[in-house]
Amino acid sequence: MTTFPQPFVSTVSHWQATNRGKTSLFNHNRDKPLPIDVVDYLVIGAGMAGASMAYHLTRPGVADGKKVVVLEAKDVASGATGRNGGHCAPYSFASWPLLTAPLESGGAGLTPEEALEVLDLEKRVLEYVTSLVEKEKWEVDFWRGEKVEVRRSEDAAKQMRESYQAWISARALGRFKDVKPEWEWIDDAEEAQRITRIKNATGCSKGPAGSLHPHKLATAFLRSALSTGQADLYSWAPVQKMNKVEGIWEVDCGERGLVKTKQVVVCTNAHTGNLFKGTDIDAYLTPFQGQAANVTPPPSFSGANYLNKTYTIEDGPYLVATPHAGIVLGLHHKLAVEQGVLEMKDIFGNADDSFVHPNAKAWLANYCKDSFAGWGSEAPGEGGVRFWAGIQCATRNTLPLVGEVPGEEYKGIWMAAGFHGHGMARIALTTKYLAKLVTTGEWDAGLPASFKLTAQRLEDGKKAPPFITDADKVGGVMGKVLGSFGYGGGVKSVAR
Ligand SMILES: Cc1cc2nc3c(=O)[nH]c(=O)nc-3n(C[C@H](O)[C@H](O)[C@H](O)COP(=O)(O)OP(=O)(O)OC[C@H]3O[C@@H](n4cnc5c(N)ncnc54)[C@H](O)[C@@H]3O)c2cc1C
Repeated sequence: MTTFPQPFVSTVSHWQATNRGKTSLFNHNRDKPLPIDVVDYLVIGAGMAGASMAYHLTRPGVADGKKVVVLEAKDVASGATGRNGGHCAPYSFASWPLLTAPLESGGAGLTPEEALEVLDLEKRVLEYVTSLVEKEKWEVDFWRGEKVEVRRSEDAAKQMRESYQAWISARALGRFKDVKPEWEWIDDAEEAQRITRIKNATGCSKGPAGSLHPHKLATAFLRSALSTGQADLYSWAPVQKMNKVEGIWEVDCGERGLVKTKQVVVCTNAHTGNLFKGTDIDAYLTPFQGQAANVTPPPSFSGANYLNKTYTIEDGPYLVATPHAGIVLGLHHKLAVEQGVLEMKDIFGNADDSFVHPNAKAWLANYCKDSFAGWGSEAPGEGGVRFWAGIQCATRNTLPLVGEVPGEEYKGIWMAAGFHGHGMARIALTTKYLAKLVTTGEWDAGLPASFKLTAQRLEDGKKAPPFITDADKVGGVMGKVLGSFGYGGGVKSVAR
């Protein structure tokens, strides 16, 4: 865990590098004094969660006339949001084992009905983001199409077949029984290879997905909030602690001063533990480093031959094809460990985004040319051109913590954090519903009850296996530890 200011200089992602113009929000109010008056809603963090929270709080009829202030430790989307894979893609049936496996073995421990609610939220988030981008005319390189989840072994194809059947059977029993399934399982290897252009594919799923420029989207959410005149953003304002004084929260930003507020919304994801040190919230959340790259394809995969789908690949990356700037691909943590690219200690508990391990870099640089049929040779300037790291936030049951922080001493502190490396598929509606909860006290039925932050959930989390043990930190016993709590056993192999 790092505190702010950070003792290192972060890598720069493709997204951060390509949103530097006048319309970006770099350094916004960096030197302006913090507000003196008590503000109504104070949001900490300006990633996708904080930015969309500010947007939702400033929609007409939600908190009219109330002041919203966003405090960001660095620049807008300097955390996971500005460093991710650009995928806004709902989970498919492939996530069924993860969602329904017991907490004790590393799953989310949901009933089939609860799992369907989570999948439904993600499907609605994609539809919602699509409609918002159109309505607001945001230029965020939005693309809408299909994702394929490619399997390259017989075992994995069998697992997908079983998950598909489990998902279809669960749907048949409840409120989704008359809704056409949005995912297909292609059980024919040749057809899967044709669709995906991946050598040796044994099968693939096919379903709805989107991709977008996440740094531009967070900026667009915030710009829309700022344009109402109701909201303000202060970058480089790192919150150190929160103290309650006579019923008002004093949010202390160290040298920048403090802001007084009635309600705080914590949107600090992987860094949330810093503000709740030693508590059950701290214990529930584990920062983990992800690594990604931007690859310029050779002419064999450009123009009419450009990829027209987004991917997750069994023994490969998750990837999107941006509209004009080539492929963005990420190395999945489970695969990195299984293939010996990284150790658990390189990933879990690592909150330093200033470097990409050379093994991860090499893996990302070589993947496309080694795996796509007909990729061919790369000219200088083609292939892997930029590599970066980003810090995500794993939770004990893989689901985010949303709602008011339990305990009388925390009254007035709300949270949307712990998106488990999958926030783009969940945040836009989660914060819409959280804005309703904060302003009216009403939990919207559209927000899965399993996301709710409760004392019981924090207590139950203690039963879940930790993401990293002391043995992982010293290394050398990886296989044993992975096997002991099922992390490498398949249930968490479907995070994207
Ligand atoms: C390499 C990588 C690939 C990913 N790929 C995908 C993907 O393809 N699809 C998907 O759905 N998800 C993906 N994710 C995950 C996704 O990016 C996150 O779930 C999502 O961006 C979380 O948004 P957030 O706003 O909660 O957190 P963040 O974007 O991390 O924002 C938190 C913000 O809070 C600020 N902050 C923290 N502490 C303080 C403090 N004390 N004071 C003030 N500010 C503070 C931080 O500076 C940061 O800007 C990926 C992540 C990474 C790193």
